[in-house]
Amino acid sequence: MPSPLRRVACWLGAASLAVLTMLAMPGAAHAATPNWPTLSTGTGGANVSTAQFLLRHHGRTLTVDGYYSAGTAAATSSFQSANGLAADGIVGPLTWGKLVVTLDPGANNNAVRALQTALNKYGYGLTVDGVWGASTTTAVSAFKSGRGLTGGTTVGATTWQWLVGGGGGGGTWAPVIDRSVLPRSEYDDPHHDYPAIDLPTQTGVTTYAITAGTVSHAGGSCGYGVGITGDDGAYYLFCHLSSRSVAAGARVSAGQVIGYTGATGNVTGPHLHIEVRVGGVNRCPQQLLLAIYDGATVPAAASLPSSGCSY
Ligand SMILES: [Zn+2]
Repeated sequence: MPSPLRRVACWLGAASLAVLTMLAMPGAAHAATPNWPTLSTGTGGANVSTAQFLLRHHGRTLTVDGYYSAGTAAATSSFQSANGLAADGIVGPLTWGKLVVTLDPGANNNAVRALQTALNKYGYGLTVDGVWGASTTTAVSAFKSGRGLTGGTTVGATTWQWLVGGGGGGGTWAPVIDRSVLPRSEYDDPHHDYPAIDLPTQTGVTTYAITAGTVSHAGGSCGYGVGITGDDGAYYLFCHLSSRSVAAGARVSAGQVIGYTGATGNVTGPHLHIEVRVGGVNRCPQQLLLAIYDGATVPAAASLPSSGCSY
């Protein structure tokens, strides 16, 4: 539904200068700690690799390949039995709570590999070598300070929860911003003049690649824009960023940090403008974003309507 108190707008190449109300920008919705993700047979991505490294740290023998195979489930069940948990072979909140370990600079083990893998979801580009050196300290400091986390450079359970609960899981689709930033009702709003959507974020909200693909940079009325030509052939465009985190031509995976929201380009206030194009034709992103938000089956970009989401 429309949210008249937080209307923001942008014009990408349009001459329109309608005056829209901005009575109240969102008051610092300080993000809540994200939920622990649930990993089970058939899932894949960076969170699975993180769990696999942690299982190794706790003495289980398994392949670290980012795919939750029967072997990973068996290792999880073994770990659960040894820790007084129901041995269902699924990594949920209770199992994460036993898997994660408190880490400090200088550590050298598989739990550090898990940490480095989780940090790399946010674009830190660390070598996953299990050695906590200066670059890992820098990444941990930046990650924690960006989220207001306390405790210096120590990585404890809360930091782990932020690491694996945010940033997408490395699967096919990822939320473009953390789910806790905006309510579901912001993802079905029409765009003001053509198929697109404006998410009314504040400046500085971490923005993730919606799917895997190749990056191009956009500019002009888009401001600091990042386009992703997805592996599905569709083009996903994110506009008005305050900064970009990926170079033109780079490969990204779903959930990788591409930049931070802002108000560059032709805008009346900070927000994230999103377009989905198939064959150069704009599609309505609303159903795609809602499906990702809901964890439901994501419709193919080519199946999205090309009208009916503007006013
Ligand atoms: Zn817009």
